[in-house]
Amino acid sequence: MKAAIIDAPRRMRVGECNAPEPGRGEVVVRVRAAGICAGDLYIYVGKNPYANYPRIAGHEICGTVEKVGPEVSGISQGSVVVVEPFIGCGKCYPCRVGKSNCCANLGLIGTNLPGGYAEFVVAPARNIHPVPAGLPPVIASFAEPLAIGVQACRRAEVKPGEDVLILGCGPIGLALIEVAKARGARVVAADVSESRLAFARTLGAEVLKADKELTRKVLEQTNGEGAAVVIEATGNPEAMEQTVELVASGGRIVIVGLVRKGVNISIPGLDITRKEMTLLGSRASVNCFPEALQLLASGKIQYPKVATQLSMWEAPAVFEKLVNDPASMHKGVLVID
Ligand SMILES: [Zn+2]
Ligand SMILES: [Zn+2]
Repeated sequence: MKAAIIDAPRRMRVGECNAPEPGRGEVVVRVRAAGICAGDLYIYVGKNPYANYPRIAGHEICGTVEKVGPEVSGISQGSVVVVEPFIGCGKCYPCRVGKSNCCANLGLIGTNLPGGYAEFVVAPARNIHPVPAGLPPVIASFAEPLAIGVQACRRAEVKPGEDVLILGCGPIGLALIEVAKARGARVVAADVSESRLAFARTLGAEVLKADKELTRKVLEQTNGEGAAVVIEATGNPEAMEQTVELVASGGRIVIVGLVRKGVNISIPGLDITRKEMTLLGSRASVNCFPEALQLLASGKIQYPKVATQLSMWEAPAVFEKLVNDPASMHKGVLVID
């Protein structure tokens, strides 16, 4: 089969390799669309600690079922599906308590297992989710990043009418805005970039420039209380530290952004008890794909419209362009006609 293969950091080529065959309990999917996310770019530049090479990246995958392996039921050939990329071992503590997204031996399609930048990809049947009728593959490929938003809003237990402050309006921040709004929250989004804020505004968020005055502005908007929920989606250590002053007493902080390995953050210890804040991490997603797909089908989610469609076989040039000019597109999705 044809695939976009990363042989080593900064070296991607379109070449031939063996097409996967479905083993017991597995399904082979013919790829129609696969999104490009920061994780894929990190693999490309050699900064993803979980990746190995040569690697076919791509974990935001929509396609059609090509082959069904033994002992798979309820999945028929030709149906349109998305692939959930996280494969838990089923044995470790997080897997035993239903948090396979934090598995100690996590298999990641597109990172340490073959991904979706290819004609075909193989996945366990339980990682295959049917796409609601009428949802185009490019839009359905957003199920994975949207599921990250669903997971974070579940962790935060976002309720109707609550003030939710989202730090960062990158692709995950945009997903968070729309999931929180779909839950009936009043959403305020902050970012340093005016163009990102302008886009967040089109999704119905109130927006604030993330400058030195951010805390003052948030307190002003909330009668001096702070936001009930603060979700951090920048990965910036200073923004993470700031969540403590932005959250209301008794509120919840959810950290979605990834700081670089080895970077510490520091928060006032007394605030943890004084504010009785709930401080939560949120990693990828678990059991969130069905809700993400329903949200996409409901028409409540607008941000996938920012997608720029590109040919899968132009991936080497596209990745090089994105590394040199990350602002050149909001979100790229590689498609195979
Ligand atoms: Zn992703
Ligand atoms: Zn596990």
